[in-house]
Amino acid sequence: MIAVREGWELDVMRSSGRKLAEVVERVREAVAIDITTKDIDQLTEAAILAVGAKPAFKGYKPGKVPFPASICISINEQVVHGVPGKRRIRAGDLVSLDFGLVYGGYYADTAFTMLVPPGDPADQALLDATREAMFIGIAEARPGKRIGDIGFAVEGYVTPRGYGVVTDMVGHGIGRRLHEEPSVPNYGKKNTGPNIVPGMVIAIEPMITRGRGKIKTLGDGWTVATEDNSRSAHFEHTVAITPRGPEILTTLDPAVRSPVSPPIR
Ligand code: MG
Repeated sequence: MIAVREGWELDVMRSSGRKLAEVVERVREAVAIDITTKDIDQLTEAAILAVGAKPAFKGYKPGKVPFPASICISINEQVVHGVPGKRRIRAGDLVSLDFGLVYGGYYADTAFTMLVPPGDPADQALLDATREAMFIGIAEARPGKRIGDIGFAVEGYVTPRGYGVVTDMVGHGIGRRLHEEPSVPNYGKKNTGPNIVPGMVIAIEPMITRGRGKIKTLGDGWTVATEDNSRSAHFEHTVAITPRGPEILTTLDPAVRSPVSPPIR
């Protein structure tokens, strides 16, 4: 069942998204050479609590092992679900940060990738293409379109540029739970999948690699890395569908947020 949210629910989700966007600013400022990923986690958790919300990822348990932290930090060839620990951020690292919160019973989820200077220009190009692919996908998230149109657009942007789409991980509906229906793949065919209607809220999150896009799970049971060790980037926004088009909930920038017809940035 795909939930269609009522107006008051969307208002709560706007608050959740805004709070998460505030936390994003704190996290972005913290990422620097020599900080440990554990320190970034502690700072993220404190920032989430400070806005009156709770971390969505800590204790999240879809399988056997609950996620032990408030943020996933995935470095270089790691794609998603990296577990914070003693590792220190180094010059040239490609750092993907993925985290969420729950406020008033409603979840928000976001991710972004940073390149620590001096970065490889090829990593910067991957980062830029992944972010652009996310916005191109978001632009498809409007009434009259279908979920397959989002993945078709994402794939159609990154594949000709020589990048690999991670197909084993997908975006998702979000609301009363962190992961709800529908699945939102980053590949697909035009005019397929569930209809996109006002009141739907989805997390659109391309995971793109400089290699083939095949993944493996590491021994900690969580960290997902590319099979070919190619570097990977990840961007994600929580997006509400309004009659006028997509409204990005997880940003503080009114120019990015507003549901205007393309371009949406
Ligand atoms: Mg997500």
